[in-house]
Amino acid sequence: MRITRNTLETTPGPSNWFTGAVYVDTVATPSNGSRLSASSVHFTPGARTAWHTHPNGQTIYVTEGIGLVQRRGGPIEVVRPGDRVFFEPGEEHWHGAAPDRFMTHLAMLDVDDEGNSASWGEHVTDEQYGQQPG
Ligand code: MN
Repeated sequence: MRITRNTLETTPGPSNWFTGAVYVDTVATPSNGSRLSASSVHFTPGARTAWHTHPNGQTIYVTEGIGLVQRRGGPIEVVRPGDRVFFEPGEEHWHGAAPDRFMTHLAMLDVDDEGNSASWGEHVTDEQYGQQPG
């Protein structure tokens, strides 16, 4: 057993991966044969990821607030605490907060053989983000 105390700093999400203010707390880092990468991601109202994919897919589990998720070609979906979403390997998608709500989710995935967790694309435009949820 190894306890990691709450000493890691909360880090801002990089602006090339996110629109708006996003903060990330690390939960699990791949090491010693474990591929699990997990983080608690805090989105301020209107903040969201850029379009991206994960080589081995990703599960998000909403813990607070109201969120929005979308896969390329699908409608925007509203997600709430207790909802979880699995994005398929290679499925292009984004996730973020509703325009007027904070949202926090736990994000979990397995990195690939090279340690990559995601492949990042273009930002989600205000027009894409502003579409009515399906
Ligand atoms: Mn994702």
